[in-house]
Amino acid sequence: MHGSMMTTPLTLTPFLERARLLFSDREIVSRLPSKALHRTTYGDFARRSLQLAAALTAAGLRKGDRVATLMWNHSAHLEAYFGIPAAGGVLHTLNLRLHPDQLAWIINDAADRFLIVDDVLLPILAKVQDRVKLEKIFVVASSGAPVPPGFESYEDLLSSAPSGFTPPALAESDVAGLCYTSGTTGNPKGVAYTHRSTVLHCLAVSLADTLAVSGRETVLPVVPMFHVNAWGLPFAAVMVGAKLVLPGPHLDAESLLELFEKEQVTLTAGVPTIWMGILAALEQAPSRWKLQRMRMVVGGSAVPESVIRGFDRHGQTVVHAWGMTETSPVGTVSHLSPALANASEDERYQARARQGTPVPLVEIRAVGDTGPVAWDGQSMGELQVRGPWIAGSYFGGSQDPDKFTADGWFRTGDVVTIDRHGCVKITDRTKDLIKSGGEWISSVDLENALIGHPAVKEACVIAVTHPKWAERPLAAVVLKPGAQATAAELRAFLEPRFARWWVPEAYAFVAEIPKTSAGKFLKSALRDQFKDWKWD
Ligand code: AMP
Repeated sequence: MHGSMMTTPLTLTPFLERARLLFSDREIVSRLPSKALHRTTYGDFARRSLQLAAALTAAGLRKGDRVATLMWNHSAHLEAYFGIPAAGGVLHTLNLRLHPDQLAWIINDAADRFLIVDDVLLPILAKVQDRVKLEKIFVVASSGAPVPPGFESYEDLLSSAPSGFTPPALAESDVAGLCYTSGTTGNPKGVAYTHRSTVLHCLAVSLADTLAVSGRETVLPVVPMFHVNAWGLPFAAVMVGAKLVLPGPHLDAESLLELFEKEQVTLTAGVPTIWMGILAALEQAPSRWKLQRMRMVVGGSAVPESVIRGFDRHGQTVVHAWGMTETSPVGTVSHLSPALANASEDERYQARARQGTPVPLVEIRAVGDTGPVAWDGQSMGELQVRGPWIAGSYFGGSQDPDKFTADGWFRTGDVVTIDRHGCVKITDRTKDLIKSGGEWISSVDLENALIGHPAVKEACVIAVTHPKWAERPLAAVVLKPGAQATAAELRAFLEPRFARWWVPEAYAFVAEIPKTSAGKFLKSALRDQFKDWKWD
């Protein structure tokens, strides 16, 4: 007789019971708009999440209905993360930094029925409200002011929850969440996460060789909960019972450093721009904050090697990770391989600045013009991925068959090399590569080098058309306040580091670099700005 294993569906709802039973006293700390700290516990969070599920069901939520959130990172948002899926609904996190036209488009495309919104974000809602059909809007009074007339109160919704609610049985293939890509061209596309993909992603990011989220950590996701589920950290933190610290709207370096110190944060995550600001503050006043030794997960854009080195000087460890909305998002994480134990310091830093190796259950390949390229650390190809938390298609009507290969891989649009240890290095987005005289130049490598110059605050390298070489790189540079550097100096700084033809001749000193809603360089806007560059 063959034995067998149970086929328990992988759904998020049991995490609530686990939290109640195993770590009901552990804290969830949220920073309010007033900067005051609101403290609650996992026990309360689990109870309120189930109340939300019960109340939404009583309000008419049907299985698969989308409930949007327009919120900062705080405990009510965490209740939505679990309460909406526990009711069989779909958590649709809205990016509050989007242009109102795009926000309205997304709400309509998702056909959101209900919305939960922070009162401090009502001005954003006001810009789209007449263009969308939301049946009910629940307001979280995070500023402490009464809920304005015309809206329902989130707290009243919770109090209205009927008692004796039993969460519906769900299939692991049911959709739990929906996020839209931040698409810099064309309309954004929806990515639907299932209960199963979310649970598996939680397990994957908790592994010691990935982000090592554990019940012994104090986790502060700086990355907003409206960016690919704050990289899955809130879900994983609830699974393992990590103390959670949620920074609300206060994302400037000083506020974050104060919170890291006060709550003794040990694991945090955000995009490089956040860490550059924090590093600058630490460099200015190294002994002002008494920080725990933290691991800082950095992703969303490449983290420059100088930032990894900088944090090491302050006893803090950068962990570089790569992912996308379509990959839930964690796909690769960079940890030093034992194979590099005896490598030089420079080599070790270079390795840590790469995007890393695929997390278990994610497969990768780099595909060039004639098929997959060798894992030799040199050959470039488009990164393609597959695995149980990688999108297999887009949500609703926004299909994009070009993103999926006939043999079942997702095309990331990132151009990479993969070395013999399986470590990925992103050299560009396919659309951002610079092709000069028929050869590819990596804008990312040039940017990372420029940011190592002491006068440079930000650097973004784009292709501009050139009469002889078709394209040449142009470096748009923002200098640090009070700092000086000339084009000739920057050129001289780059020359020893690159082949001669890689080094830009063109430098534009600008006040700021246009960014996407996720804080990434908006290269298309910069290309427009410099499309008529005059070569001498
Ligand atoms: P999004 O779907 O908005 O999260 O954007 C995903 C894209 O961000 C990826 O395809 C990459 O181009 C870029 N990205 C994410 N993480 C990294 C990283 N660690 N280094 C370089 N680029 C990254």
